[in-house]
Amino acid sequence: MSTRFTPGASDLADRAAWLAERLPEALRPLAPLAYNYRWSWARDGDRVFRDLDPFRWELAGRNPARFLADLWPSSMAEAVRDDALLERIAALAAEVDADLSRPDDPRPGIDGPVAFLCAEYGVHASLPIYSGGLGVLAGDILKEASDQRLPLVAVGLFYRRGFFHQRLDLAGRQQEFWIVNDPKTLPMARVSGPDGRALKLAIQVFGGTTWFQVWRVDVGRTPLYLLDTEVPENDPVRRWTTQRLYEGNRATRLAQYALLGIGGVRTLEALGIEPAVYHLNEGHPTLGVLELASQLVSEGASADEALATVRDRFVFTTHTPVPAGNETYGVDELLAAYGDLPGRLGIDADRFVGLCRVRPDDDGEAPGLTPLALRTSRARNGVSRLHGDVARRMWQPLYPDRGVEDVPIGHVTNGAHLPTFASRPLVELFDRHLGERWWERAADRALWEGVWGIPNAELWEARGRARRELIEWARLKSQNDRLLRNEQIDYVNAAAKALDPDHLTLGFARRLATYKRLWLLTHDERRTVRILTGEPPAQLLIAGKAHPLDESGKGVLQNVFNLKKHNQGIAGRVVFLEDYDLSVATHLVSGCDVWINLPRRPMEASGTSGMKATFNGVLQLSVLDGWWDEGFDGKNGWGIPGTEDPDHAVMDARDAAAFYDLLEREVIPLFYDRDADGVPHGWCDRIKRSLATNAWRFSASRMLADYAEHVYPRDQR
Ligand SMILES: *Cc1c(COP(=O)(O)O)cnc(C)c1O
Repeated sequence: MSTRFTPGASDLADRAAWLAERLPEALRPLAPLAYNYRWSWARDGDRVFRDLDPFRWELAGRNPARFLADLWPSSMAEAVRDDALLERIAALAAEVDADLSRPDDPRPGIDGPVAFLCAEYGVHASLPIYSGGLGVLAGDILKEASDQRLPLVAVGLFYRRGFFHQRLDLAGRQQEFWIVNDPKTLPMARVSGPDGRALKLAIQVFGGTTWFQVWRVDVGRTPLYLLDTEVPENDPVRRWTTQRLYEGNRATRLAQYALLGIGGVRTLEALGIEPAVYHLNEGHPTLGVLELASQLVSEGASADEALATVRDRFVFTTHTPVPAGNETYGVDELLAAYGDLPGRLGIDADRFVGLCRVRPDDDGEAPGLTPLALRTSRARNGVSRLHGDVARRMWQPLYPDRGVEDVPIGHVTNGAHLPTFASRPLVELFDRHLGERWWERAADRALWEGVWGIPNAELWEARGRARRELIEWARLKSQNDRLLRNEQIDYVNAAAKALDPDHLTLGFARRLATYKRLWLLTHDERRTVRILTGEPPAQLLIAGKAHPLDESGKGVLQNVFNLKKHNQGIAGRVVFLEDYDLSVATHLVSGCDVWINLPRRPMEASGTSGMKATFNGVLQLSVLDGWWDEGFDGKNGWGIPGTEDPDHAVMDARDAAAFYDLLEREVIPLFYDRDADGVPHGWCDRIKRSLATNAWRFSASRMLADYAEHVYPRDQR
């Protein structure tokens, strides 16, 4: 194990030892595995746990700490007699140990660990402290830093109620519920201070003290510290700070940002960790800059000197391509929450508010954390080439003496963690054709040229296997979802009967934010029904959650859901799968044939689900927005231009028509254009081209290498 970040390591080891004592000797190697998410991207990781007791593995939400603590004595006894399983356990433990005991690989110009600060992390479905792309990207960065041995330590919030769960009612209305996360059953441990007692820290916010404790989760070699206000010293309102993700209550959100930024910096200090650079992933943790600056002010520096000094230690990634996506506040709200900060910085309230504005003296402008982050970081980037352009245009007013081209915002295009999202059929195919330990060279363009040597029949066999696994899972899930909803039995069984493992399978899964335009799928209802009930057959799997307060998102969901009311036959061909999360996403990006994305350009800063699909030989049918604007070469999928138009209705109608045209004229015919053995050669060639051009480019390996070479080193501007 890397010895660099010891705080909390012994607390985690104590939890693992407690668990080990409850297991028979032969199963004890599972206990330390359970307390580090490294198992989740080992080849056999999920299967080793599952094979101990498949039913209870699912029941435990695939959380190994809870699963092992509740393991039935008969399952233990059976496992102990199963030599093959014991060998697999030993092999998994050895693989993870070997990985964790490799030395760190410090990089030139980064003299210390990178501190990564983010409001959400999507590490695994069993740790529901994420809501979407931002969190899953952050989780992928932690995993990739572990794989690349880059010293990195992450800070976030431990949401006690986490990510909401979704059900639909019979009318297609989304209902939400929250399950309370119990830290005792999760693979985490409360971090002790030097005195051996639980570390307890505090920040000032809303004119009072909010206390917090700190939990540690291990993501391979990368420690993730999670701050938590559920402590007896806090009143219910302060305890609520870390209850829910993107809480609707604005005061709670302001408190969350203070905790993440100020509390995050204080936590690292209390743990004795001295970061070379702080990476602000989105604006939420930006107050950390002011915390460090105020410390210098208390040592005698002026505010300007202090800000100039700490600026050198912060880099900022923006993920939001529209002004409205960058939250703003009233001046009163901001000062009610953070009123002590101006004094601590030795500046007046006006100057403080000005730092949070694009135009500091414009009293009409509502302040927010994004302008503060842009102003107080030494490097700034968007998350795709197109988003870099958009961000430079959008934030040009912050740099009045520069032209748009010279606005100092660059881009690092996002990537996805290949070992997390590549499914077994494809991984085994790559094993046969890409050479020894090919996954360690995921960012190497030359490696992926190797896909051209794969016979189409073999590629098609792997794709068929991936599709079959998805359809089997979707059949069961649709029956269960519909039973829980009290549907008529005929309808319960409709999808399970009609979904076909050999049919063209289209996937659309994402947060149901308005700009993602789910409704374009049914913009022309007659055409949708014709495609989805016609020949040759196509089937569509949909998943996604609307934010609990987003009534328009919920309305769109309901409309699509109710399509079946007027259209017999569609109930089996279109399936809405409830409760989109990392687990549902993993199934969908593995087995679909086509991944659909219809954002209103340029609102998709990057998008990452399509990258996950790419690793699995899934082809994109998407608006040229975000990453796809950069990834599409005319032949490696399908692109809808999506040219911007001030009239949204015009844009929507035009993009919907382009979508239907491509689907009917190109996608469906190519999929069913088979040789005598049933192999679609044109389709397979397109998959190879997609893998060769995009798998390396949109891997987390390439993304993290970009950050480590071009953003984190101190001499970079
Ligand atoms: C990858 C992922 C996302 C982000 O996907 P987009 O392409 O940005 O919509 C959101 N949610 C989950 C669960 C994911 O796995």
